[in-house]
Formats: sequence, structure tokens, C-alpha cells
Amino acid sequence: MVNIKELVRENVVKLTPYSCARDEFKGKEGIFMDANENPYGALNRYPDPYQTELKKAVSEVKGIALENIFIGNGSDEIIDLCFRVFCRPGIDKILTFTPTYGMYEVSASVNDIEVIRIPLNSSFQINLQKVKPLLSDRNLKLTFICSPNNPTGNCMNYADIEHIISTFRGIVVIDEAYIDFSDKPSFLKMVEKYPNLIVMQTFSKALGLASVRVGMAFTNPQIIQYFNKVKPPYNISTINQRAALNKLSKTEKVKKQVRRIKMEKAILREKLSEMSLTDKVFPSDSNFLLVKVKNADLVYNSLVKMNIITRNRNQVIKDCIRITVGKPSENKLLVNALKTIKI
Ligand SMILES: *Cc1c(COP(=O)(O)O)cnc(C)c1O
Repeated sequence: MVNIKELVRENVVKLTPYSCARDEFKGKEGIFMDANENPYGALNRYPDPYQTELKKAVSEVKGIALENIFIGNGSDEIIDLCFRVFCRPGIDKILTFTPTYGMYEVSASVNDIEVIRIPLNSSFQINLQKVKPLLSDRNLKLTFICSPNNPTGNCMNYADIEHIISTFRGIVVIDEAYIDFSDKPSFLKMVEKYPNLIVMQTFSKALGLASVRVGMAFTNPQIIQYFNKVKPPYNISTINQRAALNKLSKTEKVKKQVRRIKMEKAILREKLSEMSLTDKVFPSDSNFLLVKVKNADLVYNSLVKMNIITRNRNQVIKDCIRITVGKPSENKLLVNALKTIKI
């Protein structure tokens, strides 16, 4: 059995969190003279530090208990909190499967944590044989699994992920930023079974609120309590809480949008596959396509000149560019632009 408290940094276990005015009095009605706010205006009050209304809505939509939900200022804040709660600077390590999302590495550097990188195999899957000997390292605190993975676009094998969760004595963070675009199952419900599991999702992709900066972590209440101790007290603004809440009341519209994007992805895949500059369009469980082309630098730069911005991943996966599925009109412009490129 994983002992969460033993994995947490000693200073975090011991620390007394900042106690804000809204921690002491939780009611909504009253004459508020406790937080030195300006009594005038519409946005004059500090936000709810625990985003209770938003969490209630998330709880309903996701079918997961309120006490299993943490809201962050984007997934990026949650990634950083994982480091600050569990990883001792200069001592501890994390495990990633590369190529993957860049923020794990950035947060590791900021927190002075060593990153162990295991390359994904040729089908962009986890090489379990290479993982197994590492999992018993006492200083290995976090394993990040991005599924669907950015930039490869595919989900990791379910059984491989579950094997890692059930054998690792540290924390497994599954980043499901793109899960709504995937037909494969989420690990969300598994947080009730595995105390060392953190599942992250976000409002930034399928929910269409990247500018709002709201990310979600689903995990056991003990880990959430440590996140709450370490996070800035008012990490989600009132405006952003409202925007996220409002979006959750429009689940049908979101589902329709996701279906449309998935259809457009299929069309775009067809079109790209037919082109002579395309070597391969990789399978995608997300809202983007990883495309291997004849010369990624040239394709990328030519597109930029035509005012179309894609992501050149040549440095990470030879001759690959990552293309986010756009509106139908945007996808057509992209395809037409690609047709003008001579290699
Ligand atoms: C886009 C993305 C996110 C979203 O991060 P936010 O901070 O919630 O906007 C998280 N993880 C991955 C892998 C992503 O590609």
C-alpha cells in the first residue's frame, strides 16, 4: 500500500497554510468587514478559495465526489504543485515518456528535480521493460503519463498504465488534457481505487476555455489537502470560476463541438494523407494530427509565410509537424497552402 504522507516533503507536512479571511467565515450573506476589501463594486470581493460551486458542477458532470476534486490555475499550476508537494529539490526525480508535454520538464527544472526520460517505442507506446527496474527507486516520486499524449496524439495502452500505477510506490500523474477527443476510457474513476493516482483534465481544450486558465485534478482527499496547503489562497479568479461554471451548463453544445472537430479531423487526415509531401499521418486520439512530411522545416516555414502557424516538432520527432484541427474554412486554407509547397 502506498503511504502518501511518507511521499510528501517534510516541510509541506509541517507547514501551517495561510489562513485567509474566507477560511474562517464561509457564509455568503453578511456584512463583510474581514478582508480589507473595498465595499463598492461588482468584483470587489475575494474569490472562493476552494471554488465550491464550480467543484459541485464538475462533480455532477464527471460523476466523481466533490472531495476528489482540485481546481488549478490551468493544469500547469497542478503540475507545479505536484513538484512542490512531493519533490525535494536536488534530491528527488521524476519519470517521463518522451516525446511528451514540455511543462513536466520545465516544472522539474524550476524545482531542481532530475528527469528520467524513457523514449516511447516506435508505436509511441511505453516500453514497460525499461520502466520496471526504475520504479523501486526511493527518490523517484512522480511518473507523468500523458494520454492522449502531446505531441504524438495517441493514448497509452490502458493495461500498461494500470501496471505502472499498481506497482509504483510513488505518485502517477495521468494528464488527460485531450481525453474528450478520445474513444478510449479515462482513468478518472480509478482514483477511487488507487490512492497514488492523480488524473488531470482541463478546460483549455475540448471545453474551449484556454484563456480562462482552469485545470482539474482528480485524486484522493489526502493529496488534495496538501495541494490546498501549498497553492496560493485565491488561485482561481471569480471571473474565471464563473466562466468555467457557465461552460459546464452547456455540455450538449460542447459534445456537439467535439463531434464536429473529430469529423473535421477525419477529413483533414484524408486530405493530408493524399498529399505527396506527406510521409505519414499518425493515429490521433486528440484534436491534432502529427504529420511526418518530406521536410518539416521547409513546410513549417512556408506555411508561416502564408500566415498559417503549425507546430514544428522536427527537433523532437524527425520531420514531424503538429497540426491542430481548426474550423472547416481554416483546414481548407491549410490544405490549399500545403499544395503550393514544392519539395
Ligand atoms: C494543452 C495541454 C494542457 C493544458 O494545460 P492548461 O494549463 O490546463 O491550459 C495540459 N496537458 C497537456 C499535455 C496539454 O497539451
